[in-house]
Amino acid sequence: MSLSIYNTLSNQKEKFTPINENEVKMYVCGPTVYNFLHIGNFRGAIFFNLVRNWLEHLGHKVTYVYNYTDVDDKIIKKANEENVDSLVISERYIEEFEKDFNRLNLKKHEYNPKVTEYISDIIQFVDDLVQSKKAYVIDGEVFFEIKTFPTYGKLSGKNLDDLVAGQRVDVDTRKKNPADFVLWKPSKEGEPRWDSPWGKGRPGWHIECSAMIQKILGDTIDIHGGGIDLIFPHHENEIAQGEGRTGKCYCNTWMHNDFLNLNDEKMSKSLGNTVTARAFMDKYHPEILKYLMLSHHYRALFNLNEEKINQCISGLARIYSSLKDAQGFIADNSLMGDEDNHSFNDLLIKHDSKIIESMNDDFNTVEVMASIFEVIRSYNALDLKKKKNTRFSKNTSKVFVEWISKYGQMMSLFQEVPEIFLNQLDDMLIKLQNIDVDLVEELMEKRKEARENKDYEKSDEIRDELGKMGINVNDGIIGRGWEIKK
Ligand code: AMP
Ligand code: ZN
Repeated sequence: MSLSIYNTLSNQKEKFTPINENEVKMYVCGPTVYNFLHIGNFRGAIFFNLVRNWLEHLGHKVTYVYNYTDVDDKIIKKANEENVDSLVISERYIEEFEKDFNRLNLKKHEYNPKVTEYISDIIQFVDDLVQSKKAYVIDGEVFFEIKTFPTYGKLSGKNLDDLVAGQRVDVDTRKKNPADFVLWKPSKEGEPRWDSPWGKGRPGWHIECSAMIQKILGDTIDIHGGGIDLIFPHHENEIAQGEGRTGKCYCNTWMHNDFLNLNDEKMSKSLGNTVTARAFMDKYHPEILKYLMLSHHYRALFNLNEEKINQCISGLARIYSSLKDAQGFIADNSLMGDEDNHSFNDLLIKHDSKIIESMNDDFNTVEVMASIFEVIRSYNALDLKKKKNTRFSKNTSKVFVEWISKYGQMMSLFQEVPEIFLNQLDDMLIKLQNIDVDLVEELMEKRKEARENKDYEKSDEIRDELGKMGINVNDGIIGRGWEIKK
């Protein structure tokens, strides 16, 4: 089965065929760098990392461009507030973004272009449109003339008449058509500015992505991605400019991820409910953010709440506990068990097919996770811990770890050292649940004494008391002998 992707342009799943065999050029609109990014901004970064990994898994060489918008009204506003150059602001928040991004251990993009480094390409692009009469100049401002692009609206499904009718009253009366959009604008006092054939000014937003795309990747690219809010006008305008300039298709496949809401509300500064990726990863763990994002389909609105975070923690704890057990078996030299477990191997083969089918079906990560959990369940059901030295305990554990690691790499998940990760989860839950560690240790000590005195009734009582506090006591747990229930 070959890869099919839902293309916003056709509103259906289509078989994906790259322009050049085994080579994929993809571009995803990156952040405007004027602040810390919130967890919603990272939904795209995490999902499109998976897209790239899967394309590579299928044998394609991927060139992935993820840009930084470093000229923008919001950046300028912040720079003026702080009385610094706007580059100070953008460089600061690129650095902060990269700190967050690196914590996620995703693959590096081939290019992270900044708009300010492509100004001459932008000017050339705009000039090409002016020369070919697709754009016009008024008082140092350049507008794209939508009338010259008859298929305008093909991505968003909007029709030009409705767009004009829907324009607000404060339309710029200098424009030929109220829906014409800005390519280049004069800079006001204190704003970044560059010399251009139309005077000192700066680029409009949409032209930036088109210029960087055509400069770095070429006239036509395979995949363009972003959040659904970008379909209109940003991506619609990118198509008009891009195709207006070259007369060729600008991008074959358009992919859009839906939004992340928090407790049924859109995350927004005015509601005061934004959570930065930094704060989230400090409180939880980067693995939790990635796992959350991939356990929901990218085209579905994801409503995040505490219950989902808790489910995610339990899920990750199950996976890593199984991995830890399996690694224990592999490392235990006293164990035999090198025989093949045919029925388990068959199950893995069945889920290999299922995962390939799910990924090729427009990246259905929900189904991929379901397969992973079925394999975990089957591995745990072998109960190797109890049976210890079975004919196949070592071999099964080895193929299990390799299998999880293979799909983990594809999702940039499950790459942590299980024991360390489980301890980190414990430390995190101790903080989140306000668990009094001294009290737990004290009870553990009392339990130890009771056991030494063969007072098993008392020892069981203490175990129950700890259980009520959310603590699992297990003498097999390496280290402190207890853990937080997950
Ligand atoms: P911005 O910095 O606002 O231009 O947004 C950068 C990217 O994050 C864009 O691709 C947006 O579509 C995306 N984005 C913003 N808010 C959310 C959200 N709540 N959920 C998912 N994506 C978002
Ligand atoms: Zn863009």
